[in-house]
Parts: sequence; C-alpha cells; structure tokens
Amino acid sequence: MSQSETIATFEDFALNRQLLNAVDDLGYTEPSPIQQKAIPLILQGHDVLGIAQTGTGKTAAFVLPLLMIAKYAQGEHARCLILAPTRELVSQINDEITQLGKYTDLRHVALYGGVGPKDQTETLRKGIDIIVATPGRFLDLYSKGEIFARGIRYLILDEADKMMDMGFMPQIRRILEVIPRQRKNLLFSATFSDRVERLSQEFLEAPGRVEVTPQATAAETVEQWLYEVPNFRTKLNLLAHLLENKEVVRAIVFTRTKTVADNVHKFLGRKIMDKKNLRVIHANKGQNTRMNSMEAFKAGEVRVLVSTDVSARGIDINEVSHVFNFDVPVIYEDY
Ligand code: AMP
Repeated sequence: MSQSETIATFEDFALNRQLLNAVDDLGYTEPSPIQQKAIPLILQGHDVLGIAQTGTGKTAAFVLPLLMIAKYAQGEHARCLILAPTRELVSQINDEITQLGKYTDLRHVALYGGVGPKDQTETLRKGIDIIVATPGRFLDLYSKGEIFARGIRYLILDEADKMMDMGFMPQIRRILEVIPRQRKNLLFSATFSDRVERLSQEFLEAPGRVEVTPQATAAETVEQWLYEVPNFRTKLNLLAHLLENKEVVRAIVFTRTKTVADNVHKFLGRKIMDKKNLRVIHANKGQNTRMNSMEAFKAGEVRVLVSTDVSARGIDINEVSHVFNFDVPVIYEDY
C-alpha cells in the first residue's frame, strides 16, 4: 500500500497532542488528500512542491507540519517565513495558524500593506516565530530594520503561480538574497505551468512532489449559465434582475476592474438593494474596509459582494449560492 492509503486519521501523523486537539476542535475528521501526501514529507524534512488549489486543505497541509517543527516560542527572530500574494490570503493563512496553533505558544504575525506598519512592527519586536507576509511588506519592514532574516529556516511560497502573475518575482528574488541559503523550502501552486516548473527547479532541492487534482471540476458541482448581452447598461439591468431572484442567498459579483466594480456597486445600491446588504472590495479600498466587508460577507450579514477578481482571489467562503462573472475572467484557472 502507498503511504497515502495508510494514513486515515490525523493521529497517524507524527503530530503532537496540542496540534491534534486543535484539529479536533476544528472538526476536521480526516486529512484531505493533499494533507495525506504533504504532511509526512514535510515532517521528514523534504522540500516539497505541492500542486493544489484553494479548497483542498492545502493551507493546513503546510501549516500543521510547520507548527510541529517550530514547536514552541524560541528566541526573538522568525524561523519560518510564509509568502503569499494578497493581503486576504496572508490573513487567511495567519488565521489558520491562530486556530491550529491555539494550544502552542508560537508567535506569528501577518504582514501586508495598505495599513500602517505600527501594529505589525510592535508584534515583531516582541519576538516572533512565524511570519506570514506579502513580499512587498516583508521587504519594506526588512529594509527598515524591523525584521532579522538570518534566522529563517523554512520558506514557504503559497500560490506561487499567482505571485508570478502579479509580478512579485523581483521581490521574491530579493528576499532569497537576505535569508539563509541553508533552509527548507515549500512551494505551493494551484497550477503547474512552465514558469512554476522553472521556479521549483531553481528554488527547491530534490523536492517531493505532491499533487491533487481539483476535487471536482466546476462542471460537476456547479450549474452554469452564460448570458450574452449587447452592452454595459443591459448587463447591469440583467445582473440586477438576476439578483432579485430569491434563490440568490449569497452572491459574489466579479468584475475585471475597480471602476466596473464601483459602477456595479453604485447601480445595485440605487436600483435594487439596501446598501447594508451590499459591499464592494478592490485594491483602492482601505485594508480595514476590505477586511470588514469580507468578514460581514462571511458572517452572512452582506448578501452581495462586488469584487475585482484579484481582491477576492483564493478566498474560501462557504455557502456562496451564486457567482456572477460580470466580465469574462482573464485567467482561465481563476474562473
Ligand atoms: P484551503 O484549501 O487551505 O484554503 O482550505 C479550504 C478549507 O478546508 C478551509 O476552510 C479549511 O479550514 C478546511 N479544511 C482544511 N483541512 C480540512 C480537513 N482535513 N477536513 C475538513 N476541512 C478542512
């Protein structure tokens, strides 16, 4: 039998009681396929290339073994660095660390731009074990002397394909120059393109490669409709009409640009909806506003969230009843 078939429960991993209890509290009964494959390899100290999309449990697949390896609070300087492309993803990973690490004393912080650095630097100065960061904010604080990078032993690139799409490669290279060469590396990506392959060759040493196919393709679990409409005005009216359907309990409307997101938001607010059931998020909104909107949406207080695809990418929100792609998405996998 292969290793993945022998691991049926979290107890089968060499994880400590603190972590198993946290997993239990979260109600995870069995490890997902990516967790079954990746956790043993990471615990054995291998570099890992993980091809897995959001929704597969890939975050816990690297967070759990990292928490196991980091064990408890030690010294002042970070030993693990997790890089992710967006503020939302950074805070989502950080939240998962909070939940899975709740019975450990490990110290961690989410570093992202769009907010003042004060809280982030204060947390860093108290001593830190794990940093989760967007590449830009990490370099920013590093260059201000707020981060001591020579203690980093584990580097994780999450959603590496997105980071490349978003042009973060130069920053990532600069980060590689300031952290020790002697370290373990984990690279997670939703897709395995030529670029990801090249990055993994450059960045990983004899990696264990783990891959999960998406659990179900959209065609299997989601009903899809395409409406062809002649112009912007008609498209707005059609959207408003569709949103008035009672079956639309909680919906995300994706647009390609900030301007369209704002226009859709304004139109819906004027035409069909109470403004308190409606929010818009995109990169020009302040970080706090975006977080609040996301939280309110997750909590079910907001019925319709209008978002540029970049702002909401990788976000895992259960129980969204409908997704409207106001524009045809540019990147096939995002769709
Ligand atoms: P991710 O792919 O990391 O974004 O995770 C998707 C969702 O699955 C998150 O809400 C996790 O909390 C949840 N999750 C992760 N691992 C498990 C598991 N083994 N069983 C059930 N849910 C899980």
